[in-house]
Amino acid sequence: MQTRGAVLVSGAGVAGTTVAHWLHHHGWDVTVVERAPSLRATGQNIDVRGAGREVIRRMGLEERIARSGTGEVGTRFVDRSGRAVAEFPAGSGDTAGATAEVEILRGQLVATLDELVEGRVEHVYGDSITEVTQDDAGVDVTFEHASPRHFDLLVVAEGIRSRTRELIFGAEARIRDLGQYVAYGAIPRTADDDDWWRWMVAGRGRAVMLRPDNVGTTRASLAFLGPLEGLERLEPARQIERLREVFADIVWQAPRILDSLAADHGDFYLDRVAQMYAPAWSRGRIALVGDAAYCASPISGMGTSLALTGAYVLAGELSARPEHGAALSSYEALMRPYVRKAQQLPPGAPRIANPFSRHGVAAFTTGLRLAASRPGRVLGGRLFTPPADEIALPAYAVPERA
Ligand SMILES: Cc1cc2nc3c(=O)[nH]c(=O)nc-3n(C[C@H](O)[C@H](O)[C@H](O)COP(=O)(O)OP(=O)(O)OC[C@H]3O[C@@H](n4cnc5c(N)ncnc54)[C@H](O)[C@@H]3O)c2cc1C
Repeated sequence: MQTRGAVLVSGAGVAGTTVAHWLHHHGWDVTVVERAPSLRATGQNIDVRGAGREVIRRMGLEERIARSGTGEVGTRFVDRSGRAVAEFPAGSGDTAGATAEVEILRGQLVATLDELVEGRVEHVYGDSITEVTQDDAGVDVTFEHASPRHFDLLVVAEGIRSRTRELIFGAEARIRDLGQYVAYGAIPRTADDDDWWRWMVAGRGRAVMLRPDNVGTTRASLAFLGPLEGLERLEPARQIERLREVFADIVWQAPRILDSLAADHGDFYLDRVAQMYAPAWSRGRIALVGDAAYCASPISGMGTSLALTGAYVLAGELSARPEHGAALSSYEALMRPYVRKAQQLPPGAPRIANPFSRHGVAAFTTGLRLAASRPGRVLGGRLFTPPADEIALPAYAVPERA
């Protein structure tokens, strides 16, 4: 069977597995290289919205993904004693609300996407690109472990801190730090835990959150605003110590979360919240997709939907046009306006939702109550509704294979 050519995809996250699926679907030979020794099927609750959900539909995965939902019924802001101050029930459409209709654990989404490409694309785990050169004939890649190889195209899907992007674009691509640390982890579920996303605005720039999952645990996160202090580079035990200092005065669920994470920090993860701005998403035969190109941050609720949509459009354009230069320009032209809107966070975010003073917390809570009231629902809905539908997804015909 004749193929369209050979593509290397670097990174087996949401963007990498999705672009691998669609490239294979359109007749390319695909190799996926992943730095981790196996698929990283971990991570917390993520949203699939609007066009991202349509891509899942076109992959035939909608029912499976819906069955794997976390069961979150909505977002409930609580006070220091856990009493509800404002509630936003889950939306019933593809797009609206802080709680999207499709809420799924990242690990389950990645595992489902990977099953679709298993046996259809070549996987190389525990390796990564060390050098790339390209000319009219293609892309030559050297790896940390495997022998050098030649491909027609390279797709970089390595997430926000992509090393290959740095090799190719250097400092041109800019990470915008949003001034917030967030720590995530799974903790034992207790009888008091419910199916709401419970969110305590704790003052001094801090937030404590608990969310349900479908595997019998509770997903916790602790967030705080502050300058970079190198916390992201420390060992988990040291990170948890620092979180204990930051959250020392909070009585609600912070002590329980920190005790659980200290006892078992298997999937504990702490990072800075950031966005990615790359002036171009391709150079020659090399393209960026997902967070590596246009991370919108977890605050946007759009990262996964952008990764799914971008991967679909990139593979479709590369397959619909005979010349890769035109295809990559068209990918960027179709995706740029969508990405620009998704990266526009609510004014003042993340500071506005994480006030410092008591007065600030009281004013924010009043705003939430108003937004949750019947007349405020329209406005409140808009506040939590990312622009997930604001792209017309092209249909790409499946080519005849010789
Ligand atoms: C382990 C993990 C947990 C996450 N948890 C959350 C979460 O709880 N909440 C949230 O909102 N977002 C989370 N994210 C980010 C979220 O998955 C993305 O924002 C979004 O889905 C877009 O995905 P992506 O495929 O572009 O990037 P990612 O999901 O980051 O995937 C990138 C993939 O590339 C691999 N990779 C990185 N560098 C290299 C390299 N040099 N060579 C080869 N492979 C490489 C990574 O190991 C990873 O598998 C997580 C990401 C990861 C990797």
